[in-house]
Amino acid sequence: MSLIVQKYGGSSVSNAESIKRVAKRIVETRKAGNDVVVAVSAMGDTTDELLDLAHEVAPIPAPRELDMLLTAGERISMALLAMAIKNLGHEARSYTGSQAGMITDARHGAARIVDVTPGRVQEALTDGAIAIVAGFQGFNRGTGDITTLGRGGSDTTAVALAAALHADVCEIYTDVDGIFTADPRVVPHARKIDRITSEEMLELAAAGSKVLHIRAVEYARRHGVTLHVRTSFNGNLGTIVYNPAAPGLDENGEAVEEPIISGVAIDLSEAKITVVGVPDIPGKAAQIFNIVAKTGANIDMIVQNVSAAATGLTDISFTLPKSEAQSVLTALTVEKEQVGFQSLQHDDQIGKLALVGAGMRTNSGVSAKLFTALFEAGINIEMISTSEIRISVVTRADTIHEAARVVHTAFGLDAEDVAVVYAGTGR
Ligand code: ASP
Ligand code: MG
Repeated sequence: MSLIVQKYGGSSVSNAESIKRVAKRIVETRKAGNDVVVAVSAMGDTTDELLDLAHEVAPIPAPRELDMLLTAGERISMALLAMAIKNLGHEARSYTGSQAGMITDARHGAARIVDVTPGRVQEALTDGAIAIVAGFQGFNRGTGDITTLGRGGSDTTAVALAAALHADVCEIYTDVDGIFTADPRVVPHARKIDRITSEEMLELAAAGSKVLHIRAVEYARRHGVTLHVRTSFNGNLGTIVYNPAAPGLDENGEAVEEPIISGVAIDLSEAKITVVGVPDIPGKAAQIFNIVAKTGANIDMIVQNVSAAATGLTDISFTLPKSEAQSVLTALTVEKEQVGFQSLQHDDQIGKLALVGAGMRTNSGVSAKLFTALFEAGINIEMISTSEIRISVVTRADTIHEAARVVHTAFGLDAEDVAVVYAGTGR
């Protein structure tokens, strides 16, 4: 008998009809002879609606109360799902995050899992019941308060349960057929990937692919949990995300031929700050990024220009989430004299595109092909950064969708058919 953890996202349980459909699917898995644990998200856009509501009563809602409010979303879906399963004649029990032993630190809105003690879930399984666990939520022992894991956190709940229960597989059900070579909403001819390493998946998630919560991928990689990302709208196999024992080998130790490129991800949530006229002497970059670090901002790409020989000055640009730009600008302005730079530029009309693939390690023509594709489409590149398995470029925001499509085509990733998006508002 296998133990399968299944996670259903908000779009899979958006109304009574879809809850019944998901219940059927869970029961089928159970009938096939498996133990089943389910992590479920809030129905449809419930979390966003609750957030909007909170901001209507208070511009800055108290973090403790906000978590209390948002966790209500998953309570609704878990109870309804358990009822629907019982109605099909199978035993099911729903549990809140704290009942299921999801122990976190105390950071409201962005809590980290520190321990998983799923005693009650285990008990339910022993009794032959299906366990339904509220995604996205936990409990801090110190404060005794309810926490949330951050937006999209139900994936992480599922993976943490799978790791703690030594599940055979963690199935993540979503509104597309699996992981695609690009977002099918942007690149209609995106192709489903059958297998991808967790390393590549991490790069795609970090670069803006929203199919999986990045922390869930990290957690799965660290704990050796195999993920199967698939849709709840049909029975098709989706994408296996695995941690290879050795490069070029899958989890069974079989040789697999890796495709050169696994996908293209885009991100429109970042801004660019340029520090203009920085004295090109040791210690200046350290000074600047110490100031930035104190604001807690998450820096992504950094580019420093060659200094102009005549002036001994250089420009340093970096990207960061749009929401963090203002506090960084303020902090740098305060220290302007101290650092000795001339001015600051803020640009929130940028888009980032990342091309990811393990095959890049050994293939030097990849950058050339990427830049050529963008050039032929008349798209200007403003910044470039690379890792072993990723090349990222920054362009104007309004060219990023076009950029994704031409790069996708240039690397031969286009499928013949148009990809299907079953549900979800993409919100
Ligand atoms: N309901 C939460 C959210 O919308 C968690 C999740 O869906 O994974 O962010
Ligand atoms: Mg959701």
